[in-house]
Amino acid sequence: MPLKGTPVKRAAHAGLLAATYLPSILKGMWITLRHIFRRKVTMQYPEETWKLPDNYRGLPALVRDDQARVKCVACFLCEYVCPPKAIHIEAQEIPTGVEKGPKVFDINMLRCIMCGYCEEVCPEQAIFLTKEYTTVGVNREEMIYHKDRLLEMGGIRPDPIKKWAHLTAEAGSGTHR
Ligand code: SF4
Ligand code: SF4
Repeated sequence: MPLKGTPVKRAAHAGLLAATYLPSILKGMWITLRHIFRRKVTMQYPEETWKLPDNYRGLPALVRDDQARVKCVACFLCEYVCPPKAIHIEAQEIPTGVEKGPKVFDINMLRCIMCGYCEEVCPEQAIFLTKEYTTVGVNREEMIYHKDRLLEMGGIRPDPIKKWAHLTAEAGSGTHR
């Protein structure tokens, strides 16, 4: 079958100078030279890091209250609502006798999309999205953050409600892991 189409129009011979590529080389070097003296915009990460806005949503983390108690009561709401099913919780009784707490609390950071649903839904203000965005690991197991690591990331957040204060005083124990 014969080929159809319009023949490509080729430029006429550009001349001897163009054949040496010198004009193109000089043009390229001129562009490079101009950029050398411009303000640098490349960030030298990780020595330099982003200045994140206040509403930045990074990795989720668990928090303790001002008496170092784990605030999570293992209600499973965050596990239920998490769109990519990144959270895995196993509950346990806690020594205070007040409520239960998490025995296992894992977040698979390879799955987490930092949507913030877990923070929104938590009735205990026990899980927050941090400004941390560095998720580095050499295998998949390292990317599953366990309870202790999540608590270390979250640190302490003062609890304005203090609903456990009188109950734990009666139970005689203040801290649970
Ligand atoms: S931020 Fe979203 S995706 Fe990540 S653990 Fe929370 S609910 Fe799941
Ligand atoms: S972090 Fe909040 S929503 Fe998730 S299990 Fe604990 S108390 Fe429930």
